[in-house]
Amino acid sequence: MSNWDKEVDILVVGSGAGGLLAGLVGAHNRADVLIVEKADLWGGTSATSGGGIWIPRSDVAKAAGFEDNLDDAFTYLRALSADNVPDENIRAFVDNAAPMLRWVMANTPVQYMAFPYPDYHAENPGGSAQGYRTHLPLPISGKPLGNEVRSLRFASPAASLFGYINWHFTETSELLYRTKGWIKNLAVSMARYWLDLPFRLTSRKDRRLTLGNALTGGLRMALNDRGVPLWLNTPLIDLVREGDRVTGAIVEKDGKPYRIGVRQGVVLAAGGFDKNQTMRNANAPLYPTAQYSGGVTSNTGDSIRAGEAIGARTLNLQSAWAAPVFYVPGEDRGRLCTVERALPGCIMVNQSGKRYLNEAASYHIVGQQMARRDAEHGDANPSWMIFDHTYRHKFPMGPLYPLMPTFLHSKGVRSILKQGRSIEELARKIGVDPATLSETVARFNTHAAKGEDPEFHRGEAAYDKMYGDFRHVPNPCLRPLDKGPFYALPIYPGDIGTNGGLLTNAKAQVLDDTGEPITGLYAVGNNAASAMGESYPGAGVTIGPAMTSAYVAARHMTGAN
Ligand code: FAD
Repeated sequence: MSNWDKEVDILVVGSGAGGLLAGLVGAHNRADVLIVEKADLWGGTSATSGGGIWIPRSDVAKAAGFEDNLDDAFTYLRALSADNVPDENIRAFVDNAAPMLRWVMANTPVQYMAFPYPDYHAENPGGSAQGYRTHLPLPISGKPLGNEVRSLRFASPAASLFGYINWHFTETSELLYRTKGWIKNLAVSMARYWLDLPFRLTSRKDRRLTLGNALTGGLRMALNDRGVPLWLNTPLIDLVREGDRVTGAIVEKDGKPYRIGVRQGVVLAAGGFDKNQTMRNANAPLYPTAQYSGGVTSNTGDSIRAGEAIGARTLNLQSAWAAPVFYVPGEDRGRLCTVERALPGCIMVNQSGKRYLNEAASYHIVGQQMARRDAEHGDANPSWMIFDHTYRHKFPMGPLYPLMPTFLHSKGVRSILKQGRSIEELARKIGVDPATLSETVARFNTHAAKGEDPEFHRGEAAYDKMYGDFRHVPNPCLRPLDKGPFYALPIYPGDIGTNGGLLTNAKAQVLDDTGEPITGLYAVGNNAASAMGESYPGAGVTIGPAMTSAYVAARHMTGAN
C-alpha cells in the first residue's frame, strides 16, 4: 500500500514510559521516529505514578552494597507468574532490565536510586527482604522542557501534596512521620513552589519533577535533544497489515484519518483498557468498575483491539494490577491506597462489619482479595476503612490530611467521610450492624494492644512493616482503635491499570494466532500481556518491564540485537 501521508522508520503509539523509551532508543539507533499520543496531555499513567521500577541486579543496587543474582530473580518471578506466561518472556525481562537501566542513566537526565523496599513476597524462594530491586527516580528540574512542561500530566493526588506539589518518596516519609525538621522542609517546599515566578502566575504545574513526572519528563528531554516529535491529540485508529507484515497505521489527525507508513515497525505502547467499561465487562469481570481504575481516561484498549483486528493474539485479559482505591466524587479515577492500611489505628471491614484480610499486605494482594470477596459474597464493594481520632490526627487517610480540619477539605471529600462519637454510632452511619462492628473492633483491640493479629497476621511480613509506623512497638502496624470520634471512608476494589493484552515473544514482537510474530509489530507495557501474569512481585513491576520491553523492541527493530 502506498499513498501514505507520512513515512517514518518507527511509529510509537502512546507517550507513557514504555512509548517514550521505545522512541528514544530507536532514535539513538538512528531511526526516524514519530510518537503519537491520543490525549491532549503526554506521559500517560506513567507520569502520574511513583515512577518506581523493579530491576534485578542493577549497577546502582550493587553500588549500594546489594549483591543480587539473576537466577534468584527468575525463580522468584517464575513461581509467581501465571503458567501460560512463557519462560522466555520472564527471562528476557530479567536479563535485559539492568542493561536497560544502565542505558537510561547514561543517555538521559533520568537517574535512579536503589531502594530498600522489600519484594511483595519476600519470603518466597528468590525474594528479597532487603529490597534493592525497586528503584526510584531522583527529582529533576522540568525547566528544560520549556512550554511542554504544561502538557505533562500532573502527578496523581496519591503521589503529590494537595494534588499539585511534587514529592519525592523520602520527603513523603518525612512528612508522614513528621520527623525532625518537617515543618521547615514543608515551608521550604511550599516557598519553592509558590516563588517559581512568573511561571506560577500562569500554571499550577510544579516544575520540580519527581516520581513518574521525573521519569517521563527526563525521557522527553532526551527525545527533544534528538529531535523526536510527539504529536498530541492523535489517536491510533487502525493498523495496516500486508501479508505477514505491518506496514503502517491510520491515526486521526485534526479530526481526519491520516496514514503513516513505517519502514521498521510500529510499537504499541498505548496502555491497557483501564477506562473501557465494555471491555472490562467482557474480559475482566473481577475488576468491574472502570471509574475506580487509577489509569488515565484515554487508556481504553484501542491498540489491543487494533491488534486483534489484524490477527494478533491476546493473553490474560482477565487480569489487572489490582489495588484498593478511594474514590472522591467528581474525580476521573480512583486514588490508590498504599501506605495508610499498614499504619497503626485503622482496620478495613466488609459491609457486615467484619475484617476479612491483612490490611497491610501489598495493594495488589488486598485489591485481589477485595475483588474476590465481593465476587463470592457481594459484601466488599465498597468495604470501609475505619480509624480513630489518634489516627486522624497523626496520619493521612486517602484524601484526608492530618492536622487539617475536616471543614477545610473539599465538598467531595466531606461527602464520603463518616464520623461517629462511638463505634456504634459510626456503624449506624455506614449501614453496618453496630453490635458486629463493636465486636470486630473489640477483638482487634485486645490483640493489637499486644502487637498481635492472630486472624490475619498484619505486621508480620517484611513488606507490612515497611509502611508501618517504625516508632510504634511492638508491632509498627497495630494499635487499638480506642479514642473517639471514630471515622470511616469507603474503599473500593480497584486497580492501577489492566495488564492482560497482546501476546508477545522475548523480543516484544506481537504474535498471531499461529504463534508466529507479526513482522513490524511490537507491544510493550500494559498494551501487552504482562510477564508477571496475574501477580505483583514488587514495587515497579509494571513500569520496569514496560521500559525493558521498550528497550528490547527498539533495539530489535533497529538491528541492534
Ligand atoms: P501509560 O503510561 O498509561 O501510557 C499509555 C499512553 O497511551 C497514554 O498516554 C494514553 O493516552 C495513550 N493512548 C491510549 N490510547 C491511545 C491511542 N489510541 N493512540 C495513541 N495513544 C493512546 N507502576 C510501577 O511500576 N511503579 C510505580 O511506582 C507505580 N506507581 C503508580 C502510582 C499510581 C498512583 C498509579 C495510578 C499507578 C502506578 N503504577 C506504578 C502503575 C503504572 O503507572 C502503569 O502500569 C504504567 O504507567 C503503564 O505504562 P504504559 O506505558 O503501559 O501506559
